[in-house]
Amino acid sequence: MDNNLVESVISTSKYVFDRKLVSGLAGNISARFHDENGEDIIAITPTLVPLSSVTKKNIVIVTINGEILSKGTPSSELNLHLEIYKKNENVNGIVHTHSPYATGFAFSNKKIKRLEGFGDIKNEYLTEIKYFKPGSIELANKCSEKLIKEDVLILKNHGVVAIGSNPQKAAFLAEFVEEIAKTQFITYLLEK
Ligand SMILES: [Zn+2]
Repeated sequence: MDNNLVESVISTSKYVFDRKLVSGLAGNISARFHDENGEDIIAITPTLVPLSSVTKKNIVIVTINGEILSKGTPSSELNLHLEIYKKNENVNGIVHTHSPYATGFAFSNKKIKRLEGFGDIKNEYLTEIKYFKPGSIELANKCSEKLIKEDVLILKNHGVVAIGSNPQKAAFLAEFVEEIAKTQFITYLLEK
């Protein structure tokens, strides 16, 4: 097991919690690495543990096919993480949040404008996918398809998924999305 990558999931979990991108038991984070045989192994945050309390002892290690190699129960969004890794070789970190401003947009009929720094600038707004039940394979399939071309998605009536070459980069992106959602919210108020 790659200790550095496990550490990166732990430090990113604390970062995401401290930045208030999640609260309570919400949110989940993972990293991918390769074992000595070159197999894809995923370290993912456990279910029903606040991201502020993720440790080496409770983090869950699974294969790319979802076989659990450690103690504990992985996040209920395990399928989402696995499908994203399966479809995109370059992704090695995933962060899912319910950050309040971006999620507010996800519950409204307004979209978050894409600012510089996000993938394909031809699309004026961040890509939003329709509502699927949290934890469902339908949500995992739809998100993973869209994330071949995007690096962040807004999930209708739910939250945000951001990807990167490591978990911290995915967290910075999730934080950036929250920041621009907040700025746009303030702009809407001022224009009223
Ligand atoms: Zn969620």
